[in-house]
Formats: sequence, structure tokens, C-alpha cells
Amino acid sequence: MTLTGKMLIGQQSLHGHRDAIRAMNPATDTPLEPAYAGCDAEHVEQACALAWAAVDIYRETSLADRARFLETIADNIEALDEELIERAIAETGLPRPRIQGERSRTCGQLRTFARTVRLGEWLDVRVDNAHPQRQPLPRADLRQRHIALGPVAVFGASNFPLAFSVAGGDTASALAAGCPVIVKAHNAHPGTSELVGSAIAQAVKQCGLPEGVFSLLYGSGNELGIALVTDPRIKAVGFTGSRSGGIALCQAAQARAEPIPVYAEMSSINPVYLFAAALETRGEQLAEGFVASLTQGAGQFCTNPGLVIAVQGPALERFIHVASDLLSRCPAQTMLTPSIFNAYETGVSALAKHARIAAKGLAATGPNHGQAHLFVTQAPAFLSNVHLQAEVFGATSLVVECKDAEQVRQVSEHLEGQLTATLHIDDHDLPQARALLPALERKAGRLLVNGWPTGVEVCDAMVHGGPFPATSDARSTSVGTAAIHRFLRPVCYQDFPDSLLPAALGHDNPLGLRRLVDGQREA
Ligand code: NAP
Repeated sequence: MTLTGKMLIGQQSLHGHRDAIRAMNPATDTPLEPAYAGCDAEHVEQACALAWAAVDIYRETSLADRARFLETIADNIEALDEELIERAIAETGLPRPRIQGERSRTCGQLRTFARTVRLGEWLDVRVDNAHPQRQPLPRADLRQRHIALGPVAVFGASNFPLAFSVAGGDTASALAAGCPVIVKAHNAHPGTSELVGSAIAQAVKQCGLPEGVFSLLYGSGNELGIALVTDPRIKAVGFTGSRSGGIALCQAAQARAEPIPVYAEMSSINPVYLFAAALETRGEQLAEGFVASLTQGAGQFCTNPGLVIAVQGPALERFIHVASDLLSRCPAQTMLTPSIFNAYETGVSALAKHARIAAKGLAATGPNHGQAHLFVTQAPAFLSNVHLQAEVFGATSLVVECKDAEQVRQVSEHLEGQLTATLHIDDHDLPQARALLPALERKAGRLLVNGWPTGVEVCDAMVHGGPFPATSDARSTSVGTAAIHRFLRPVCYQDFPDSLLPAALGHDNPLGLRRLVDGQREA
């Protein structure tokens, strides 16, 4: 397919009129064709009007039809084959295996949501049959199901050009819930976005759906994002990016005449706890695993282990020594964009003012090369200095040396909300780990034992969320099938005749769902 530089509004490809975005190849610092002119208010209006016109039809598509739509998108993305892989590599500097893996995850995610849609559990059907004879008052017939919130604005993420962008987790979960989606492409990978957007638009056509189910817009400088979030027809937002961006979108959404939910995944430093027995018996192995996790993908993961917490002593010193040695041999890696690279350099410089540098990776040999860093500080400094808790997006981590278990607890209580918290333990560490768990449950969305936080499985049990600033809403997840619930709300139907009820609530259970009827789960 020839890239056109056009946005997609329903089935129409249109040129924008505003300042053009051109992707940069971060590995060579050269611009890539074509240019993508930004859209204006008229285009936002068109996309929102189409999405609004589609909503009542799309949200009532049968479970089978909606599942088939998600599977068709996955098939179409796979059919893009090498063209998609090559373009994503050029726009992100990410290595081929990572992009191929991300494509698999993206298509697997869409198919997993198709399975979820077919099961229909997300409708959460509850039936309380009428009790006309109940004393002192009769009970009405009450039936509940979940419906789609309405059109959703999705912001493509810079660090996942496929799995968290145009057809990524937010889009897949919103489409699965029955919500039309308008994506704001990330400016770092407009060509990848156009390819994937075309695959979705084609699937809309193949499945005979209303064209407003999907649109893809381009634009830079905040204006487009704010226009989308404040349009009254948009009913929810999915975002992955910076803390400042996420907060700005939340504030814009709250200031609307009708405030709407913003599911923003923003900033997390993902503490890793090294407990005494584990550190003593396998400190070197832990150092190897830590450096591999820290430097994977130039550290550009929201689950990057940016903080290590342990009680000071010879075992921790040995860990720092081995990790420093390994890190000092890690080559610098191309970061996603010049601005992410600059932000990384600024973050490292800021950290260097407040903590001791234990090790640096190999120096940069090309443009936008991020050099890995390991810093060390003591618990009292960490507790009194807010700068030490700031996310440095890239391969940088900070070891916090604590005097004792009480100081580990204080540091933990001081932490902001996190996506993950990791415990490295042996049997002897169990009492201390157990004592810390309540605090960690309050702080993080996912707790791991003897693993590394990078690598997020897309499955039913996954939670990729957590208290602020990890996300703007700790009650949900952005990865895994539970993400569908972000875009649904319950509706109760009282005393409806069978002929007027939605199929999911019909008296004879025509969809064959597992419903909660008079307090009992149907088989
Ligand atoms: P970003 O600057 O937050 O941008 C993400 C998207 O949000 C872009 O489409 C951007 O559009 C839009 N946006 C940002 N601020 C906005 C505002 N005030 N109003 C309206 N729209 C706004 O994130 P990024 O470009 O991906 O990376 C920048 C930094 O974010 C990184 O250096 C890193 O620190 C952090 N980041 C963190 C994670 C994580 O998972 N923790 C992931 C990615 C990035 P415009 O640019 O057109 O305004």
C-alpha cells in the first residue's frame, strides 16, 4: 500500500490543512515521507458526527459479528506483512524482533477480545424476577446488562507503535465494548498509524459496519487532543504517555459540561525489593536479571524497574558491583524520538544532582542513543527529596539503600502509585515480604515474586494499572480482557415486556449467557 499522508474519517481519506507532521528515523535522524498535514476543527467535527451516528448501531451488533470484526482487523494487520514491519522499524528505531513481537501481541490481543466478546460475560447480566405477591410491597421485574459508553478518543502511545497505538489495547477494548473509536495518531509514527488505520477501515467495510466506527486523525501541539476530549459526543478517553499530558487531558475532561472518564496511563518507577536471603544466595543472578530488564528496549517501558530497594550490607554492595559491571558493558541504544531522548538526558542530569552514579553504559555512537545509568542513594535522602521519585523514561534506575526493615517500610509508604512492585524472596524472607504486602497492595496494580516487571501478558487476570500517577483511575486495567469494563456502564430495565427487552435479557435467555438469576448463577 502506498502511504498517502491522509487521515481517515470513516471510509474517507482526507488531507489535513494544518502544520504537517513528518516522522523522523531516530536511528539516522532523517525525516521520512510522506508528510501528514494536521486536521482542523472541521475534521474533528466530521469524525465525531460519524462516530455518534454509528454508536447505537454498532453497540447492538451481535456478539458474533463484533467478534468477527475484531478478528478481521487482526487478519488485515497481518496481511500488511513486511511493509508494516519495515515502516515501524524506520519510525521507531526498534529492532525487528521487537516489532514482530509487538505485531503478534496486537493481533493476539484483538483475537483475545473477540473471544471475550463471544463469551458475553462482560454483559454481566443480572435478572431479579418479579414477585407480585411479595409483602408488604410487590417486587418489579428487574434486569441489568452493560452497554457501551459511546465514542472513545484513543491517544496512540509513542513506546508501543502497534500494541498501544491505532489498533492497540485501548482501541481493541473500546471496540470490544461496542464503542466507536477515534484515534489521535502519535506524531512519532504516522506512517505505521496510516497502515494500521487502513486495516481497521477495511475491516469496517468488510463487516458491513457503519463507517463512523473508526476514524484516525493527525495533528500536533495539543489542539487536536483537547478538541477531541472536549467534544460532547466523546464519552471516554484512553491515553498512554507523559504525566503532564495525562493530567492535562483529565483536567479538560473534568471541565466539560458533562465530565467523562479519562483512562490515562502515565508514570511509574516500578520498585523492585531485594530481600536479604534472596540477595545473599543469588545476588549475582539477580543483578543479571535486573540489568537485562532495565536495558530492554532502551528502557522505554512503563514497567521498567526504575527503583531498587534493599537493606544495606555486603550482599547489596555485591549486587550493585555486579550490576554496575554488567551495565558498563551495555551499548547505548536508539531511543524512540529526539524529544524522548532529550527528556531522558534531562532526567539523568537531574538525578545526577541528587544521587551518586554507580555505573554508566557504553557511550553513544549514534543519534538519539540513550546511555544506561545506575544511581545509588540512601533512604533518608530518598524520603526527603521528591526529585528522586520522578520517572526517568529510559534505561536508568536508582538503588535505595535502607538501614533496616523499618526503613524499607518507610520508603514503601512514601512511594507514589505504581504499575508494579516486585519482590525477590527466598523462603527465609517470607515473614518480611508478608509484612510489606499490605502497603504494596495499596501502592501497585501488579505484584510479582521472583520475576521482572517488563513483559506484560495479555490475559484475563492481568492488571496494568495502579493508583495515581501510574494511572488516572486505579479501578481498571489497560491491558488484558478486563480492560473492556472501562468502556461500559450498567443499565437496568424494569418491567419490560419480553418483546422490548435486549436479547441478552430475554426471558428464555436466547443468547445462552451465564446470568445471575434471583441470586443464583445459571449453568
Ligand atoms: P506525550 O507527550 O504525553 O504525548 C502523548 C500524546 O498525548 C500525543 O499525541 C500528544 O499530542 C498528546 N498530548 C500530550 N500532552 C497533551 C496536552 N497537554 N493536551 C493535549 N494533548 C496532549 O507522550 P510521549 O510523546 O509519548 O512521550 C513524552 C514523555 O512521556 C516521555 O519522555 C516519557 O517521559 C513519557 N512517557 C511515559 C510512558 C509510560 O508508559 N510511563 C510512555 C510513553 C511516554 P501532541 O504532541 O500533538 O500534543
